[in-house]
Amino acid sequence: MKIFNTMTRRKEEFVPLEEGKVKMYVCGPTVYNLIHIGNARPMIIFDTVRRYMEYKGYEVNFVSNFTDVDDKIIKKAIEEGVTAEEISTRYIEECKKDMAGMNVKPATTHPLATQEIDGMIEMIGSLIDKGYAYAVSDGTVYFRVKKFKEYGKLSHKNLDDLQSGFRSLQVSGEEQKEDPLDFVLWKPKKEGEPYWKSPWCDGRPGWHIECSVMSKKYLGEEIDIHAGGEDLIFPHHENEIAQSECCNGKIFARYWMHNGFLNIDNRKMSKSLGNFRTVREIAKQYDLQVLRFFMLNAHYRSPLNFSAELMESSKNALERIVEAAGRLKDRRDADQREMTSTEKELLSTADGFAVKFEEAMDDDFNTADALAAVFELVKFANTKVNEESTGAFAGYLLDILVRLCDVLGLIVLKKEEVLDEDIEALIEERQAARKAKDFAKADEIRAKLLDMGIELKDTREGVKWKRV
Ligand code: AMP
Ligand code: ZN
Repeated sequence: MKIFNTMTRRKEEFVPLEEGKVKMYVCGPTVYNLIHIGNARPMIIFDTVRRYMEYKGYEVNFVSNFTDVDDKIIKKAIEEGVTAEEISTRYIEECKKDMAGMNVKPATTHPLATQEIDGMIEMIGSLIDKGYAYAVSDGTVYFRVKKFKEYGKLSHKNLDDLQSGFRSLQVSGEEQKEDPLDFVLWKPKKEGEPYWKSPWCDGRPGWHIECSVMSKKYLGEEIDIHAGGEDLIFPHHENEIAQSECCNGKIFARYWMHNGFLNIDNRKMSKSLGNFRTVREIAKQYDLQVLRFFMLNAHYRSPLNFSAELMESSKNALERIVEAAGRLKDRRDADQREMTSTEKELLSTADGFAVKFEEAMDDDFNTADALAAVFELVKFANTKVNEESTGAFAGYLLDILVRLCDVLGLIVLKKEEVLDEDIEALIEERQAARKAKDFAKADEIRAKLLDMGIELKDTREGVKWKRV
């Protein structure tokens, strides 16, 4: 499996630090509003990376934070006359709903910055002890950029160039900095803002230190993959590297992955430009699976322009897969025969589509080519499966289709049908309990099903169920 590493600007073979395991950190959103579809791009992309890793048999420890202390959150709280915590809690909940709608799996851990302040104070303290950071008289702590000789290695920026660019950019109130390049690790509170006690002043952490600390706590000092949108390369990820590597004395992350921008009219979609569409708005018009398809039909490192036409064509294309899956399922369920020898001869062609899919995904997660392989399978299924086909053959193709789409997080069998299977399984379990005269358990299952909105009726022909 090859991954394009922003650090080396090359595709590299993926070798995990620990065999069979992947430690992955994705910078998450700042929660002061509903997420827009630009924010959704890294969520969908890196969820797909995770799913593919899991498909390949890796155990993935996937950590993605919520930035729940930030100027924008505080501003919104003041506007609404509520606490910053109320704002962040509300939008974390809303974000999780959108993620579920896009079929983005919850992370192994979703740490919150405000819950990790102790770790941040500890890391800042350690950076000061090692000479990589300093506090000034108002209690602000800065990172001493020039002391880290490798600064700029991810963004391929040269310290001297940065220096000349920054000289004119010194922000007022930061006159006490030793050097214009130095960035904030800890800053004093302002009236009415949330704050924490620290050895330097009552205040709050800078943004960059959060990720260094949460990554270390939940994944360790060295991780396999660190990811986010390409706007994070500089300064956010560069600063994370500086903090983590100076504190821990180890390479922070082996592979750096960055998604390209989601644009609208060829400009980056962003809250500050006001040219954004929220995931919630899109959900009114489309199933969010269509949004997921739209994102995966482009290469993750390329810019992607949002348009109504592309959404429509994504909708139609996804429909084709769903319809093919439906037909295969109907045929599978309608026929009990074993595969014929002619059908058996076709299996290697069908398996070949899965191989193509994997080859595309192994090549730096080329989801567009992977989808092309899925469509080849769909076309093959549409031409080879008909009224004469055996259920076994249709079932075989359906299994491949569902398996590959699942890697992409695309649900191709309607939810209700999955639910039906769960119901049937529970009914069977209840029948077995009754047979074993375990009536308590049988009643428990009946009650559980009722909770799920399913009423059972024992008839002479067997158990019947209906939705209530
Ligand atoms: P933010 O809440 O702005 O910190 O963004 C959260 C994540 O969304 C980061 O990984 C950003 O890089 C990413 N992001 C924000 N806007 C876009 C966009 N228009 N296209 C792609 N990724 C984006
Ligand atoms: Zn981060």
